[in-house]
Amino acid sequence: MAVQQNKVSKSRRNNRRAHDALVAANPNECPSCGELKRPHHVCAACGHYDDREVVAQADEIDLDEDAA
Ligand SMILES: [Zn+2]
Repeated sequence: MAVQQNKVSKSRRNNRRAHDALVAANPNECPSCGELKRPHHVCAACGHYDDREVVAQADEIDLDEDAA
């Protein structure tokens, strides 16, 4: 078992934890569908980025296209 060599003081421990706070998400409205999305990320609802569809949505793909 690893054993620490020196006790970490409350001050040093709390100073280390001063940077551990979680930051709230800052969502933007998607310009094409109006859904909230993360800034600089592809919209999860419509697959658009910068007014352009970059990810096809699952409900728009015909899975039986090459089945026959
Ligand atoms: Zn969208």
